[in-house]
Amino acid sequence: MPFPSLDRLSPLENFGHSMGSPAFVYRPTRAEQIAELFESASRCGYTIGLRGSGRSYSDAALNGGHIVLDIRRMNRVLEWNPDTGVIKVEPGVTIQQLWQYTLEDGWWPPVVPGTMFPTLAGCLAMNIHGKNNCVAGTIGEHVLGFTALLPNGDSITCTPQTTPDLFYGLISGAGLLGVFTSITLKLKRIYSGNLWVHAWASPNLRAMMSEMEPLKTETDYLVGWVDSTANGRALGRGQVHAADYLHEGDDSAPAQTLRVDYQTLPDTFFGLVPKSSLWQFMRPFMNNVGVPWVNIAKFLSSRFLSHHHHFLQSLVAFNFLLDYVPNWERSYGRGGLIQYQSFIPKETASDAFVEMIALTNRRGLPNYLSVLKRHRPDKFLLSHAVDGWSMAMDFRVTAGNRAKLQALCDELSEMVLQAGGRFYFAKDGTLRPEMAVLFLGVEALRRFRELKAQCDPQGLLQTELYRRLLCGPA
Ligand SMILES: Cc1cc2nc3c(=O)[nH]c(=O)nc-3n(C[C@H](O)[C@H](O)[C@H](O)COP(=O)(O)OP(=O)(O)OC[C@H]3O[C@@H](n4cnc5c(N)ncnc54)[C@H](O)[C@@H]3O)c2cc1C
Repeated sequence: MPFPSLDRLSPLENFGHSMGSPAFVYRPTRAEQIAELFESASRCGYTIGLRGSGRSYSDAALNGGHIVLDIRRMNRVLEWNPDTGVIKVEPGVTIQQLWQYTLEDGWWPPVVPGTMFPTLAGCLAMNIHGKNNCVAGTIGEHVLGFTALLPNGDSITCTPQTTPDLFYGLISGAGLLGVFTSITLKLKRIYSGNLWVHAWASPNLRAMMSEMEPLKTETDYLVGWVDSTANGRALGRGQVHAADYLHEGDDSAPAQTLRVDYQTLPDTFFGLVPKSSLWQFMRPFMNNVGVPWVNIAKFLSSRFLSHHHHFLQSLVAFNFLLDYVPNWERSYGRGGLIQYQSFIPKETASDAFVEMIALTNRRGLPNYLSVLKRHRPDKFLLSHAVDGWSMAMDFRVTAGNRAKLQALCDELSEMVLQAGGRFYFAKDGTLRPEMAVLFLGVEALRRFRELKAQCDPQGLLQTELYRRLLCGPA
């Protein structure tokens, strides 16, 4: 049998459908198969990229012309202790599988992204954060240990106590040092399937940040939606959501709210429009004329219909709002979208974000969805975190604006670096290698390369992101 087999060649894309390349895709079910694939790839001169659910906006799970290991068939729960909330799973278990498995026992993943479809391996590789970053940290802070297969043939077991270098390197390591084969995680005890949510409107970005700042460790979840198409005194206006877990005894019917069917998102909107076709209704509005009107309507409704509104919302509805609209990213059209998320220290963040939003509007490239979060630093090797703020901005990509958008992102990245900021490999598709060196720092890159040489001396684990940003001279 020739390796790689031509039958395996498949087109792959990033989440936003703005980058893509064909690769030979293998779907192992056991660690031994991964070891065999390492052996075959090394013999035949191919590199291997790892891929979970392909939910990264970046090129982190692409490896054009080479091998891609899709780990989603390794998706069994291996051990579960409902008394302690400690779970051991295979790497392809998704956030959705995880919460559906543990919810009825009163446990919830301590950190989740804005969608439930990523795999745990993908979440560890990027060391994801949630809307609770200031209180709960990143997902890696809740990992008790993992096993991984290294391209050098070693099978390792890592914990923060026994193997800190490998533990803090592989988590955040963008799938470039080894393959997670099992993950042990401590979950969060919950007493209800609902959160108490408080929503209010903020008149501009500086006001929003000063309203959120005192709440950063006072509330369990904190997130701001920012209208990036408003200008002048309203620049950066939007809506904040703060949410808290319910305490024991607060929920009069926890057995009901902790059921999976209570959490399930409805199949239709207003009982009429099937949610599977909603993205097609959004499509005509996703342009520089439609989005400002949608934003005005959303802001006015938050200002006049739901200002200081307190309500109960299910954990799933609060955390995975975007999953309400399957394929929403398709509404951006054929060229897809990129997300530009930067992380800026608290001292410089508000000035920098105000200037950045203003610049996007001056360049005629407004972003269509902006989300603001408060963060805290962590000690993982390729960390994106700061004691400060992140702003995620979604930009539509078209054949005509691609070059202009890259030039805009170059300008934005200069501003982020000037402000002492950082970037996130799950989201970045535009950074240049010299900028990666500047934000990661020479020392972190040296440590990463040392670990790479130790775990993967032949350079078998590669992705397009790796070749774009991380394998050049320091
Ligand atoms: C709508 C949406 C909302 C999001 N919200 C957030 C958010 O709030 N916070 C946040 O932090 N992120 C967020 N993300 C980003 C997402 O959580 C990350 O990109 C995550 O890594 C995706 O996981 P995945 O399983 O799809 O992995 P992929 O995107 O397929 O891969 C991600 C990385 O994992 C590596 N990998 C895959 N399998 C393995 C393995 N077995 N061992 C080692 N490495 C492996 C890959 O090589 C790659 O580098 C969001 C994404 C979307 C689409």
